[in-house]
Amino acid sequence: MAKTKRGSNIKKIPNWRGTCPICNRSSVKLLWTAVKDEQGIKVCKHCGN
Ligand SMILES: [Zn+2]
Repeated sequence: MAKTKRGSNIKKIPNWRGTCPICNRSSVKLLWTAVKDEQGIKVCKHCGN
């Protein structure tokens, strides 16, 4: 399985770095998806599992 959440792969994703809407950490990688209000939102590693 490719490591899509590491290395150069993440730079293919627009706005991959930002502030996590759940834990409000800034400048984290938002590569995980959480379901909130029936919509998928991008969250950091800590909130995505
Ligand atoms: Zn988070």
